[in-house]
Amino acid sequence: MSVGIGYDSHRFAEGRPLILGGVEVPHEKGLAGHSDADVLTHAVIDAILGAAGLGDIGEVFPDTDPAWEGADSIGLLHTVIGMLRGPIVNVDATLICEQPKLGPHRPAMVARLTAVTDARISVKATTNEGMGWIGRGEGIACMAVAAVDLD
Ligand code: MG
Repeated sequence: MSVGIGYDSHRFAEGRPLILGGVEVPHEKGLAGHSDADVLTHAVIDAILGAAGLGDIGEVFPDTDPAWEGADSIGLLHTVIGMLRGPIVNVDATLICEQPKLGPHRPAMVARLTAVTDARISVKATTNEGMGWIGRGEGIACMAVAAVDLD
């Protein structure tokens, strides 16, 4: 069993949908990024890549490559799962933002990521107590850990 950590952050931008864990969350702003900017799925991908020793998301899907422009991050996650020698055991992630309130959307994110990974998924959400860039509502951060059974 091997464990990996992932972290990602994206800033809010007007005129984009907010996609978290493959789920569209109603909000007046989305996240800026080369792909769909799904900060949760990106952190999960990096945690899985870390556990498997396969580099990081920027190496596997370079943001200079037009192929990934507007990419569905769940599709990227599928690709990464295809690179693994064994099953993902579990993923635990924490989203950090002030708005929107994510609690009501967690079950949908868990369901989506469970369907894709076939692993035990936990998605948690917290605020940054008004401090720093997250506190000012400039964007969303996410941390994740993943365990992969490589034996
Ligand atoms: Mg990202």
